[in-house]
Amino acid sequence: MEAFEYRANPGHVVFGQNTLGKLPAEADRLGLKRLLVISTPQQAETADQVKALLGARVAEVFTGARMHTPTDVTDEALAVVEASRIDGLVAIGGGSTIGLSKALAVRTDLPQLVVPTTYAGSEMTPILGETANGVKRTRTDPKILPEVVIYDINLTMSLPPGMSGTSGINAIAHAVEALYAQDSNPVTSLMALEAVKVLSKALPAIVQDPADVQARGEALYGAWLCGSCLGTVGMALHHKLCHTVGGMFDLPHSETHTILLPHALAYNAPAIPEVMASLRAVLGVRDPARHLFDLGRAVSAPAGLRDIGMPQDGIAKAVEGTLSNPYWNPRPLERDALTDLLSRAWQGLPPDPAA
Ligand code: NAD
Repeated sequence: MEAFEYRANPGHVVFGQNTLGKLPAEADRLGLKRLLVISTPQQAETADQVKALLGARVAEVFTGARMHTPTDVTDEALAVVEASRIDGLVAIGGGSTIGLSKALAVRTDLPQLVVPTTYAGSEMTPILGETANGVKRTRTDPKILPEVVIYDINLTMSLPPGMSGTSGINAIAHAVEALYAQDSNPVTSLMALEAVKVLSKALPAIVQDPADVQARGEALYGAWLCGSCLGTVGMALHHKLCHTVGGMFDLPHSETHTILLPHALAYNAPAIPEVMASLRAVLGVRDPARHLFDLGRAVSAPAGLRDIGMPQDGIAKAVEGTLSNPYWNPRPLERDALTDLLSRAWQGLPPDPAA
């Protein structure tokens, strides 16, 4: 047995169907009386339902959350927090809404009650990515980690099938990278393998029948595990590539993850034979990287970076960006191999089996 370190994150998780009803009791347990409910404009109606549920505990509703957590939106919400003497944050939505809640929490140390409605997994991490002047920066702080997370399967039923597929593969990426992270450990790996197994089965089922409650529940359970993985270990090449091309070309987050994951795994495969063997065993396939590529097709995700707006001459720029300031990775970063990886990903080809 190899030596390891495992840092568990604190936090209270409530999981099930109709669990949103437990939100008032959780707010009371934390003694919160002047809550700010946060959502995107698209989920303003859901925010209103949460407001009605919490009644007099709500002081304000802010529905301006945006993708990539722009700091000007945070400043706007911070003014509301101060003016209304807010004592707690309630975020209902995906990673964008949770990002705003985290950005407020790191500035104010207010407690957060988070109700995720996608599979992105942000709710389980002490990580915040925020954008200022067109540059997205990531930071980690214990204040960023939500105190309470309520997973309600019912709230994910409205997530469109396409978004469910890419959001779920975004989650799988957290689990896959956790298996070969520099600080990987047996506990996180148990969660990661279980997550890969349940999500890769549930996502195609959801795309076939978005009303399949069983599949929705399994996907949300898998997403919780994936977020927990990302919250306890570091990231590697896959996340570095996504952050680089996503930031450079303003690409949609979960689609970028979905396209790049099979290629990043194929790149690392020669350096991680034991991880590949574990993935083969849980997925029941010979080539896990190819399987993840096929999973993208099964959920009708775009196959190539060119399909989501990356220009072809961006490949060389993205390779430079990945090589300057790299994340730790099990296989050394090689310019030619990375150029080949990004060229294949750009064209929408399957991962290179010989990588
Ligand atoms: P998102 O939060 O941007 O949501 C996409 C759209 O779907 C939004 O308009 C949202 O309102 C809507 N939506 C969400 N749930 C819905 C539902 N159930 N029904 C109908 N519509 C719904 O998307 P996302 O992929 O969850 O989040 C992406 C963001 O999260 C990125 O900025 C990414 O960087 C961040 N993220 C952060 C971490 C972290 O640990 N810090 C982890 C993963 C993702």
